[in-house]
Amino acid sequence: MKGFEKYYRKSWPERLSVLEHENKLTKTEIQQLEKSALAPELGETQIENFITQFSLPEGLGLNFVINGKEYLVPMVTEEPSVIAGASHGAAIVKKAGGFTAESEQRAMRGQVIIENVSNVAELKKEIEDFAPALLQTAIEAHPSIVKRGGGPLQLVVRVLDHDLLSVDMIIDTKEAMGANMINTMLEAVAAKLRSDLQVDVLMAILSNFTTECLVTASCEIPVESLAKENLSGKEIAQKIVQASRVAQLDPYRATTHNKGIMNGIDAAVIASGNDWRAIEAAIQSYAAKDGHYRGLSTWQIKGEQLVGQLRIPVPVGSVGGSIGLVPLVQLNSTLRQEQDARELENIIASVGLAQNLAALYALVTDGIQKGHMNLQMKSLAASVGASGAEVSQVIKRLKKLPQQDAAAAKKILYEIRN
Ligand code: NDP
Repeated sequence: MKGFEKYYRKSWPERLSVLEHENKLTKTEIQQLEKSALAPELGETQIENFITQFSLPEGLGLNFVINGKEYLVPMVTEEPSVIAGASHGAAIVKKAGGFTAESEQRAMRGQVIIENVSNVAELKKEIEDFAPALLQTAIEAHPSIVKRGGGPLQLVVRVLDHDLLSVDMIIDTKEAMGANMINTMLEAVAAKLRSDLQVDVLMAILSNFTTECLVTASCEIPVESLAKENLSGKEIAQKIVQASRVAQLDPYRATTHNKGIMNGIDAAVIASGNDWRAIEAAIQSYAAKDGHYRGLSTWQIKGEQLVGQLRIPVPVGSVGGSIGLVPLVQLNSTLRQEQDARELENIIASVGLAQNLAALYALVTDGIQKGHMNLQMKSLAASVGASGAEVSQVIKRLKKLPQQDAAAAKKILYEIRN
């Protein structure tokens, strides 16, 4: 595969022709790549070894009322039902007055890991005493963020093991997610630690476990408004609470519970142009913050209200990365009409909670309905005299009929026996 040597240095047309010369693709297939590349100049600036643009469908999440303001939420996903689910969950909450959401704090954390430490307690104290100089070093490494009112806030030293320390810097990155600016500051801090305290630095990088960037979305839904067909609102609310409890107890269920939440969050984050791997990493690790992987949302009944809450880290930016580069990302921001990154956090957390409500509602109702239908048909079959294997045969054929009543069950049983 000689043609792939220094592939990154080739132009886009050259890269495509390599695919043909190396017999990887036919001319027609190359044309398909060309056709899919709607903005090759943009793609080339974004990634390495660019060959085409891979598109995903984008749709609008509707009915999102958050802190009294109604939003259109662009969502990018390949999975059917995600946008319908989010919009349905949001509609239930809209009828109850909408979501309340609050971004509690907006700061990021970076780490300088120090290895080969002979006395961790002593070095910890030494670094803590040196904190003002280290914070100043971080400021000097990226002064523009301080001019914007942000910058390094605090230094925390944690002992990881008998020979390992983590020097954590908490940084206000203002409207940016801040990965690059944090890494710049941390590398300067690492150099200062090496030169002034003669320590062995293993690495310096931001942490994606963003416990200083939390947002809480919540909603209160009158229990009676949840009623569906033959199920009362109270029954459904109780089932949702029970489902929430199971997700707190069982990691098998919690993972699926959270996957449902992330269906909406990922779709909204991708549409916002933010680094969705960073958001996934932050939120999934937060689900295991107490050492046990749990459901991210909780549902409780308080009086006559079903109260849902989702508290998660959402370290998104309104600037930085590819946000300013991709025109569609800008257009999506225009659709959402958010003022800043905190408002975007509120939207994303609310999407997660809406998605979760829709999923739990469907799970506990349709599952119950199916169970009810099966039970009903079982007793119907038994009531016309079916027994043993006949019961399941009658049910199987009854399910295919529009009219599932005693006369139909009797007729089916007669046909089976004759
Ligand atoms: P950028 O490197 O693009 O930095 C954002 C820049 O925006 C700032 O440096 C700042 O420049 C400018 N800016 C303009 N207005 C503001 C404002 N109001 N508030 C803050 N900054 C402002 O992006 P990030 O530093 O946010 O890094 C995100 C990127 O890093 C993503 O692409 C991500 O994929 C990637 N990344 C992620 C990692 C991870 O998650 N582990 C690791 C490494 C990279 P100035 O102040 O100089 O004008």
